[in-house]
Amino acid sequence: KKVLVVFGTRPEAIKMAPLVKLLKEEAGFETKVCLTAQHREMLDQVLDFFKIIPDFDLDLMKPNQSLNELASRILSKIDVVLNNFKPDLVLVHGDTTTSSMVALAAFHKQIKIGHVEAGLRTYDKTAPFPEEINRQITGRLADFHFSPTKKSADNLIEIEKVDKKTVFITGNTVIDALLWGLKHINEHRDEIVNLKQKINSKKKLILITGHRRENFGDKFKEFCKALLELAKRDDVQLIYPVHLNPNVQDVVYKMLSEHTNILLIHPLDYEVFIWLMNQSYFIITDSGGVQEEAPSLGKPVLVTRDVTERQEAVESGVVKLVGTDYAKILKESEILLDNKVAYNNMCKSSNPYGDGKASKKILKTILEVN
Ligand code: UDP
Repeated sequence: KKVLVVFGTRPEAIKMAPLVKLLKEEAGFETKVCLTAQHREMLDQVLDFFKIIPDFDLDLMKPNQSLNELASRILSKIDVVLNNFKPDLVLVHGDTTTSSMVALAAFHKQIKIGHVEAGLRTYDKTAPFPEEINRQITGRLADFHFSPTKKSADNLIEIEKVDKKTVFITGNTVIDALLWGLKHINEHRDEIVNLKQKINSKKKLILITGHRRENFGDKFKEFCKALLELAKRDDVQLIYPVHLNPNVQDVVYKMLSEHTNILLIHPLDYEVFIWLMNQSYFIITDSGGVQEEAPSLGKPVLVTRDVTERQEAVESGVVKLVGTDYAKILKESEILLDNKVAYNNMCKSSNPYGDGKASKKILKTILEVN
């Protein structure tokens, strides 16, 4: 049997890495990895850390390409790989243009499709854009759905009437990656040594990330305004690895670079980032993956979005939706900084995304159904 695993962005690489390792090392399948490389720079460091050597690299990154250009290039280039390798099963992840277009290409060729991180939904076409539609399209096309939680499985079975025999609750592979990653951090790496010098250990470190299309423009400006105000406090230090998307870079560097209490840095290698998450007091982000990782590290997360498909994390208490309103971001940050009881309550929750055995469960299912 032949399995083709396809992904293109940093979070997909992180979340697919544990499964790829298992498939290559233990499954006895011929497993090949294909990159679309939607985000080249941020992707390669993940592959290095997890020691994954891709078999095919479509190298589709082009500056400022539209989603339609990207989608059409994925479709035509993956076709060649499918023709040559002839996999029995294609595995895609989550909610990217890569996921939906590769699933469509595999469907056209009547190749079975497995969807990892299946069933997350907001049921709001505009949020997150374009991810919600990418994951719904992938869900319609997939033959096997690996859902991280009961809630995501229920979205598929109860709401979308997907055959329940094809839906498997596995936990999220993000935890597998995190637990493996924490064990393999090299604290002597230059980047970590440098960060240690820059971080003021007497202050509470607030880690910031933000990259979502739905927040580009005025919402991003409002978010930066709140960070500027927060940084006026003497007891905090803000650190912000700035995503490479120009829509993010332009606003963030223009609005925040003058402030001595805000460290703007390059996106971090995964190894360094999880180390930094562990050093932080709390996190402000619109990232999906960070909402899933933070509960395992006991770090509260304020999410700068109005909706989340990670509702389990909100219910567990560790994640709070604060939107992009200036006053709300500021107020919720102040609560975490000044109210120890509220802070401790948010730290304590267990992780609804599993125990780090998701990829083992996915592999077991793949072996059973193939
Ligand atoms: N991450 C990273 N370096 C950074 C910021 C994030 O390695 O500078 C990791 C983080 O640990 C998480 C993933 O990237 O696993 C989240 O990716 P992102 O926020 O870009 O995408 P999303 O999860 O929202 O799809």
